[in-house]
Amino acid sequence: MIRALSILFLFASALPGRCAGAMAGKGPQIRVAIARNSASLNLKTSSRLYVQEVKSGQKYLLLEDSSYEVRPSGRDISVAGQLLSSPVRLLASEGQDHIRLGKNLYKGDILLKISAEGRLDIVEYLSLEEYLYGVLPLEMSADWPLEALKAQAVASRTYALRYINPSRDYDVTSGAERQVYGGTVKIGPRIIEAVNTTRGEVLKYKGKLINTYFHACCGGHTASAKSAWGDAVIKPLYGVADPFCKPSRHARWEYYISSSELLRFIQAQGSTALKIKSVRIYKKDRSGRAVSLRIGTDKGTKTVLANDMRKRFGTFEFRSTYITGISRVKGGYEVSGRGWGHGVGMCQEGAKYMALKGRPYKRILRYYYPGASITDYD
Ligand SMILES: [Zn+2]
Repeated sequence: MIRALSILFLFASALPGRCAGAMAGKGPQIRVAIARNSASLNLKTSSRLYVQEVKSGQKYLLLEDSSYEVRPSGRDISVAGQLLSSPVRLLASEGQDHIRLGKNLYKGDILLKISAEGRLDIVEYLSLEEYLYGVLPLEMSADWPLEALKAQAVASRTYALRYINPSRDYDVTSGAERQVYGGTVKIGPRIIEAVNTTRGEVLKYKGKLINTYFHACCGGHTASAKSAWGDAVIKPLYGVADPFCKPSRHARWEYYISSSELLRFIQAQGSTALKIKSVRIYKKDRSGRAVSLRIGTDKGTKTVLANDMRKRFGTFEFRSTYITGISRVKGGYEVSGRGWGHGVGMCQEGAKYMALKGRPYKRILRYYYPGASITDYD
């Protein structure tokens, strides 16, 4: 229930000027878009929380143990019915560590802003190192071996640093299109140790930060960034043979595609075919992944990109383009393959098994990003 007097106007000078982001640690800061274009937001406070209008500097106090509705109202932001000028900043009160938004807890400063579409953008400001505490448990798992988590911390730190761009409203999003980030959840002692013991370490090649891609499981050979996205060829992202992830449950997969689904897919790409007759791999890259497939139909052949097929049928089901077999079955085709993900950079399952064999994180990183140096970011 919202308390009638839960928002109090206060003079800015009467309040502590706490800034959680600044207290979170030295080094680079990062701005994470934790939600974009939201219609509304449920803000629960388990401790006292300040809402500050950035332009006027005026602060309002939200009392603890309450729930508030936050929503856009024209170019203003309505907090429990009170109109505040956009943008506003949420600040945890002195001595408090977290701000709860929806299901998640956040440690940094939170900025709420009206987006170009008239909805709410929510951006967290925090130190890069604290951001990594929230990335590692979701990109790997808090119970994975420490050396694998350390390798992930260095890869994730490097990856994030490449996206820091002050000319934009935020640096990274919190979803899978960048690195998955969920606020301060599942942060066990091993996660903290992995981030802290590699503090500031990044991967560089010829003096520049590497675009340290990573993926769940390569299935036996990592892919080149050039083959996956047409990126320039550099040695650390050229692809390596990987015997380590072989025991992983993600090393092999099978996926059934019905002929009618396949027909709809090629029709959407301009084919006038009415019947599928055959499916085969047309072109492979150096790692063995399919680049394109050739589909035989009643109207001749149609060549499709393996990446387009994967996107169309779902990256959780059609797990990779590392296709090892296509067989005709009743009503469609059974596709079998290896690995999960785009296959570029570090194989997370391989990193786990290397760590279980006692390999230190620097060896893991040098294996997956050959020629890279591990160095401090400044
Ligand atoms: Zn692998």
